[in-house]
Amino acid sequence: MRLDAPRLTDLELAGRRVLVRVDFNVPLSGGSITDDTRIRAALPTLRELLEAGATPVLLTHLGRPKGAVVEELRVDPVAARLGELLGSPVIKCDESVGDVAAAAIAAAPTGACVLMENVRFHPGETRGDAELSAAFAALGDSFVGDAFGAAHRDHSSVSGAARLLPSAAGHLLEAELGAFSRVLEEPERPLVAILGGAKVSDKLTVIENLLEKVDALIVGGGMAYTFLAARGVEVGSSLLEEDKFDLVRSCEARAAEVGTALMLPTDHVVASEFQEDAEAHVVESEEIPAGMLALDIGPATRDRFAELVRGAKTVVWNGPMGVFEWDAFSLGTRAVGEAVAACEGYTVVGGGDSVAALGKLGLRGAVSHVSTGGGASLELLEGKELPGVSALR
Ligand code: ADP
Ligand code: MG
Repeated sequence: MRLDAPRLTDLELAGRRVLVRVDFNVPLSGGSITDDTRIRAALPTLRELLEAGATPVLLTHLGRPKGAVVEELRVDPVAARLGELLGSPVIKCDESVGDVAAAAIAAAPTGACVLMENVRFHPGETRGDAELSAAFAALGDSFVGDAFGAAHRDHSSVSGAARLLPSAAGHLLEAELGAFSRVLEEPERPLVAILGGAKVSDKLTVIENLLEKVDALIVGGGMAYTFLAARGVEVGSSLLEEDKFDLVRSCEARAAEVGTALMLPTDHVVASEFQEDAEAHVVESEEIPAGMLALDIGPATRDRFAELVRGAKTVVWNGPMGVFEWDAFSLGTRAVGEAVAACEGYTVVGGGDSVAALGKLGLRGAVSHVSTGGGASLELLEGKELPGVSALR
């Protein structure tokens, strides 16, 4: 199965150096960490490795140093926070390959983790350079992939080193794969997908893949207007990608063929300009007046979408229903978020902005699985295999 990977228990851990690719790409402000969610997400794997008597050797990227040393992107603040959270020593190494790194690992006492410097200081990392992969692999006896947020990248520290060592998925990666497999492989039905966000071009492949699997596909957000316009509906000055009309029409045709309900907004919240303080008007029809742009789904659409979501047995949500960052245009996203939270079935939310919206609503705890990886979760929804997962096998 595409979403299967070897498990931690398949590896020999006691007394071994275990390379762990984590995603510690946390937001920083003035050198301090503003959100440590990603560090916390790795704790179960690290605790298990420490308890088993392994020496975890951690690899992560941080920001976009683009292949050069950037002082502000050194991982020292991450090492400090990880040490606090784990309550055990974290040794930070200023290199991530070579003799200095090997010596730091060899000198690490039992019970300590060793955190390597930002892997993206090496220009070869994002190219998946073979020599760099081998240099990472030389630091460990085995490899654990736990960076779901980077698992769609064919990078040296993600997939390259994994191919060279006995490998397994960590707990975070395993939980993510388990959640998406529950949605994509043998879901309890009805299965409803909600897609939104700004651009249809970002998510066409997701739409194409999900059409084949879901009972209903809800399309909201900016991308809905390309669908409506392709049907010949007037959408005023709403976000449009006219070069996608043909593809969108073939999605509609395919949906009809396989019997998937493709649901679009039938009323809207509009404004005359793309501004936070623009006056919001409800338009009670599919058509949007000239000069107006739709920035959220309307009240009738909210109710229709929410009802469908509440009655589903499995739900996956990616992409807000409107410009949720602005209060006047956030009601559609709120309604869908609340419906996902109220749904008694299995619910998965992925996508940076959708997860942020869920957080803003205080509903993160009310869904079955909140994905830690926007890009990686989209690729799973596209039906793609992740290099960071296939490399573990
Ligand atoms: P996610 O990160 O959850 O995958 P996207 O990045 O695809 O979501 O889309 C999020 C963005 O889409 C938000 O910034 C939101 O303001 C924007 N958006 C949603 N609806 C509209 C709309 N009707 N017009 C313009 N932008 C929209
Ligand atoms: Mg986004």
